[in-house]
Amino acid sequence: MDQLWYNTAVMELDSLIEKNFRVTTPQKKALKKLGLNTLRDMLFYFPSRYENFSERKNIIDLREGDKTTVYGKIVEAEKQKTQMRRMPLSRIIIGDLTGTINALWFNQPYITNILKIGDKVALTGKISNGKSGMYIANPTFEKVDSYGDLSGGEALLAVYPETRGITSRWLRFNTQKILAAISKTDFQDPIPENILKKYHLPSLYSSLVYIHTPQEAKDAEAARKRFAFEEIFFIQLKRLRERLEREKCRTFPVEISQKEMDDFLKIFPFELTVAQKKSINHIIENFGKNTPMARLLEGDVGSGKTAVAVAASYAIVKNKYQVAYMAPTEILARQHFKSFIEYFSQLRLTTKIGMITSSECRKYPSKVAFERDNGDGSTHISKSQLLKWVESGEIPILIGTHSLIQKSVKFKKLALVIIDEQHRFGTKQRAVLARDKSEQIPHLLSMTATPIPRTLALTIYGDLDLSLLDEMPPGRKKIITAIVPPEQRQRAYEQIRLEIKKGRQAFVICPRIDEPDPEKEKALNIKSVKEEAERLRTEIFPEFEIGILHGKMKPDEKEEALEEFKKNETQILVATSVIEVGIDIPNATMIIIEGAERFGLAQLHQLRGRVMRSSYQPYCFVFTSSDSIKTKERLKALEQAKSGFELAEYDLKFRGSGGLSGVKQWGVSDIGMEALKNIKMVEAARLESQKILKQDPELKKYPLIKKKLESQETKIHFE
Ligand code: ADP
Ligand code: MG
Repeated sequence: MDQLWYNTAVMELDSLIEKNFRVTTPQKKALKKLGLNTLRDMLFYFPSRYENFSERKNIIDLREGDKTTVYGKIVEAEKQKTQMRRMPLSRIIIGDLTGTINALWFNQPYITNILKIGDKVALTGKISNGKSGMYIANPTFEKVDSYGDLSGGEALLAVYPETRGITSRWLRFNTQKILAAISKTDFQDPIPENILKKYHLPSLYSSLVYIHTPQEAKDAEAARKRFAFEEIFFIQLKRLRERLEREKCRTFPVEISQKEMDDFLKIFPFELTVAQKKSINHIIENFGKNTPMARLLEGDVGSGKTAVAVAASYAIVKNKYQVAYMAPTEILARQHFKSFIEYFSQLRLTTKIGMITSSECRKYPSKVAFERDNGDGSTHISKSQLLKWVESGEIPILIGTHSLIQKSVKFKKLALVIIDEQHRFGTKQRAVLARDKSEQIPHLLSMTATPIPRTLALTIYGDLDLSLLDEMPPGRKKIITAIVPPEQRQRAYEQIRLEIKKGRQAFVICPRIDEPDPEKEKALNIKSVKEEAERLRTEIFPEFEIGILHGKMKPDEKEEALEEFKKNETQILVATSVIEVGIDIPNATMIIIEGAERFGLAQLHQLRGRVMRSSYQPYCFVFTSSDSIKTKERLKALEQAKSGFELAEYDLKFRGSGGLSGVKQWGVSDIGMEALKNIKMVEAARLESQKILKQDPELKKYPLIKKKLESQETKIHFE
């Protein structure tokens, strides 16, 4: 199979893989899927873990929940159908000297065309326990000639993330060929020598050798540490460079006196917290300078970020410029639109406010107040009309979803971009800014409630100034969080009944069902919402009205469900975790979270934040069917933690980066994420990148760094 055909002369690192190794058409596709085109790509495709042969388990020693590789010979192989849904199923049984175990692949009948009785295989996956004994479901597999040849004399064997057609074994085998053919001089290290020395990091060449073919675990560790440092170092450099670039740009001077702002703040029905006022002052201070603001407003859910955004918008409008306010969901965009109308309608001069989402455009105020009125004084208008008014500057405040950043949306004088729940957008926010780079660029206010660990904040927000809302509006009661064991479920329901009878309301969040196919996942999640609502309606709370909310509903259906809940026409809203973001319904004081073990702690914290918005006593009931001690401990942290930040740190420490929500959007690789557990490393990377840019902002003395940064830029550009 893996016949090798390569040029014994030198391997050109930038030559295509298929020029060096024999690759079948399906393999070619698979390589593409993994993002591997050249030999260099292969060298930088790192193992996800190492198989330690001294720890190899016999079948008899396997336990439920083990994630491991099992070696054995196939003694049975057949195609079947699942009993309930008639889904095709491949089933094999493998055996070693100590016993046998089943392996099942759902919906992959072709597996039994590849794996045949008598083959020796290595199966990697999770051991489960079912009616007919232990089994391993959807494992990745590798045919082996003999169990011995896997080790090839080494104790540690690199295991790569695979895809169909390209096995770990193929990658290991061929990567070793490349390593053997290259030499030290093929690699120029972009990290300056003195930095490597200072932090005891191996050179690029050594790290490549170590990471693919470690002799000992500590070799691999040193290599990973180096690559982690390198990634963080380059992200920092990039962010800091962006900051320098931005500081060179011109922006719109925005002036507002303290008195004007103080007068404006009177429109709020509450006194702003000290933290809110401080943040507004930070913003006004930025506005007074010539360089565009880039500020992150970070505050736990319910800390009152919207009021800060409203105040900042006022300063802009007062100076006759425009504001764009982007929210991650339609529901949220509509909610903000309403809040803005509520606040700005109190001013003596009418401020026009527009809303744009993919399903509708609206404008406030309506000229014909009764026609298609929403009760808030706004009216439906055509997109082209709205865009015209935005382009002419007639509408100073435009609120919307992603639709805001379409090319067709042109502003006359866009001076402030506000991004709500910015972690939902990842780096796309920058696209908004980049558009008019030649001209004056707008100020940026990014808002997030996602408490992220300090290391991550330093890294991905290295170019932003920070304002913290570290104080909750007064009069909020501390939430009572209860981890409810199955036998206490009824008692929890009684408590909820009592509170609803007092006039309060409850959210019920259904467990998230993990499924690799996003469409299937969505369908399953919706099913669970519907079923749970039905169960509650018939078995538990027949006396209450129960609404549902999930991601497949149309925007107006969603809005209706929310509106009914807001008016207390429904007392219980059963939802998927879509309600995680931003919804403000102060009378909802209880939240039930089912299947809590499936959520990250920071996410659970965000969810319970939904009910911490009034002066009533809030409750969070956490149901879990898992009795793993780890899960229990983790959920305990939720009972005790004082803030979301504490929980984010906890997640990072105990669950790894996978436990942090939104991880993919940050553009940090798995290896880079490892670095984030290490504040010292992150600080070192930051310090060194600052030093370099300070003495040599153009990177004249660091051509390799410059080249690498530039190549990253083009990569991102083509995404
Ligand atoms: P978030 O920071 O999660 O976006 P919001 O801006 O939605 O929070 O505010 C949460 C709730 O708190 C809203 O109902 C808002 O009117 C209210 N609120 C905001 N600031 C204050 C304050 N200083 N005092 C009392 N209530 C406030
Ligand atoms: Mg908000």
